[in-house]
Amino acid sequence: MKYNRCGKSGLLLPAISLGLWHNFGSVDDFGTMKDIIFHAFDKGITHFDLANNYGPPPGQAEINFGKILREDLQQYRDEMIISSKAGWSMWPGPYGDFGSRKYLMASIDQSLKRLGVDYVDIFYSHRPDPDTPTEETMMALDQMVRSGKALYVGISSYNAEQTKEAVSILKSLGTPCLIHQPKYSMFVRWVENGLMDVLGEAGVGSIAFSPLAQGLLTDKYLKGIPVDSRVGRGLSNGAIQQADISNEVLSKINHLNELAIRRNQSLAQMAIAWLLKDKRVTSVLIGASSVAQLDDNLACLNNLDFTAGELNEIETILNKA
Ligand code: NDP
Repeated sequence: MKYNRCGKSGLLLPAISLGLWHNFGSVDDFGTMKDIIFHAFDKGITHFDLANNYGPPPGQAEINFGKILREDLQQYRDEMIISSKAGWSMWPGPYGDFGSRKYLMASIDQSLKRLGVDYVDIFYSHRPDPDTPTEETMMALDQMVRSGKALYVGISSYNAEQTKEAVSILKSLGTPCLIHQPKYSMFVRWVENGLMDVLGEAGVGSIAFSPLAQGLLTDKYLKGIPVDSRVGRGLSNGAIQQADISNEVLSKINHLNELAIRRNQSLAQMAIAWLLKDKRVTSVLIGASSVAQLDDNLACLNNLDFTAGELNEIETILNKA
């Protein structure tokens, strides 16, 4: 594994981190979850990303990861970076959603219980809240660090302006913003319009989520929709759907796949390497439903370099209507 410094902080994160949004709920096989976590950790993936609402049902991914930790990995706690978040809908009523201090402080306590840990390494505000003052959300994050419930804090899906404001408030409170977690892949590139510059200038790290566009940026949908895939399983809660695999998207995937083959890589490997070429990207946050996928993705580290010609070809493919 390659470890990158997270912004200007003292923390190193693996170039590839593992997220537990999918594949760690009650509908998934516990043995497979264990295999994935063990294999990831054996390969140097020290960072595991969760959120209060990951499941299904919400909370289940933290419960399952907590069980694995308690039963098998307790002695490695200090070798791991475990993150959680709050910001999306978690419980009924007005106090289980968005960014109030009331929600965030209650949610981290619930997450610590489900995970069975005394602290998380990183706690995120999962999304900006248009109706709560940013000061209130950032003060809650600061409080988590001061009370020992989180070692570092971050924000997710805040735009460039919102990020500037959050980073500045956290700085004034004395708890630096460690990291930003945006959606970023060859198919979703909003971060390139200002956010990455803000992060680079402020010395805040970044971790790109859904780097494979939930599996689209692999070769898995080139010959139809496998029944055991994210699309094939017909999952809800934000999972990609059949309608996302248009002919236009398929054509791009096909062309990208051909280029990846010429680079002696799988498309998944090329998609991850493409994100890591920007030194402001600290880590790429993948999901995996099997150990084989994990191994495929990890092998991207064997070839992270692109020629100017390859980068141009990628732009041409992505820009083709
Ligand atoms: P990816 O884009 O990496 O998609 C992962 C899925 O792609 C896998 O579950 C698998 O799906 C498929 N896949 C992975 N590798 C391969 C491969 N080599 N070959 C073929 N198929 C492959 O990321 P996710 O969308 O899962 O998101 C990753 C993490 O990001 C989450 O777990 C979470 O931690 C974080 N996240 C954060 C959000 C936020 O708001 N902050 C929102 C969403 C995610 P299949 O089931 O089809 O096999």
